[in-house]
Amino acid sequence: MTETPGTATDVLVLGAGILGAALSYHLARRKDRSVQLLDPGPGDRQATRRSAGILTVQGWDTWDLGLVRASAAEYRAIAEWRGRSEFETNGGLRVARTPEGVAWLERVHGVLQRSGVESQLLGPEGTGRLLPAGSLEDVRSALFTPEDAVCSPATLTADYLRSAARAGAEVRLGAAPGPIRWTDGRWSTGGRPRRGPDAARAVGGSGRTGGQSRPRPADGSVHPGRSLGRRR
Ligand SMILES: Cc1cc2nc3c(=O)[nH]c(=O)nc-3n(C[C@H](O)[C@H](O)[C@H](O)COP(=O)(O)OP(=O)(O)OC[C@H]3O[C@@H](n4cnc5c(N)ncnc54)[C@H](O)[C@@H]3O)c2cc1C
Repeated sequence: MTETPGTATDVLVLGAGILGAALSYHLARRKDRSVQLLDPGPGDRQATRRSAGILTVQGWDTWDLGLVRASAAEYRAIAEWRGRSEFETNGGLRVARTPEGVAWLERVHGVLQRSGVESQLLGPEGTGRLLPAGSLEDVRSALFTPEDAVCSPATLTADYLRSAARAGAEVRLGAAPGPIRWTDGRWSTGGRPRRGPDAARAVGGSGRTGGQSRPRPADGSVHPGRSLGRRR
């Protein structure tokens, strides 16, 4: 793996899984700061590649619920825009086989109802009607959430990476970032560190929000080892 000298940037995003790719895209399209996304691998190869892509309303709290719904809406829009059938709203079913499980489903059902999310609490008979081929002998109750969906995280990540590059982010895949430095309010990578690596601050960190973005056209494709998007 070679170390590629980088350029200074306001925001440095480490990791081109779905999280880093989506974050880079959303920050870059604001055009109020420069964004660089680095990954020593090709991106979308770790958790994102293995994910089952299930988007489920959890009912833990309103923040989690809002995140799932916002993600689902965006993923659906991307899939529709691409003309692909890689987002499917097919509903989710959680089953309980113990009294504790039943109590938990009732609690989640209550949270979802109060948050305006459709959910149906089913007994064994209702569960059997919904899932005729399931092994449901000892199922006591089930919670059906119709808006649950499945998507293709790897494909979405590739789309986010292309869109981030088009929006002006510098996307650098397949190259070790080298030492990371924070100098004069900006991040830079590569070369010899003046005061030592400062990677811990880089994760999720951003510099000032100066209006120095000068986005340049990118070819929109993403290849390992290539640097895409804006360059200074
Ligand atoms: C088997 C499995 C099934 C799952 N199913 C679901 C599901 O159905 N629904 C759901 O919502 N979630 C699911 N998840 C969880 C979901 O996949 C992850 O939450 C999500 O993909 C995390 O994305 P990420 O971008 O944070 O991480 P990752 O996709 O792991 O990406 C991290 C990236 O960071 C890079 N990296 C690592 N170190 C550095 C460094 N020092 N500098 C720069 N880059 C670095 C890596 O190369 C990698 O590309 C599942 C996970 C697994 C493993």
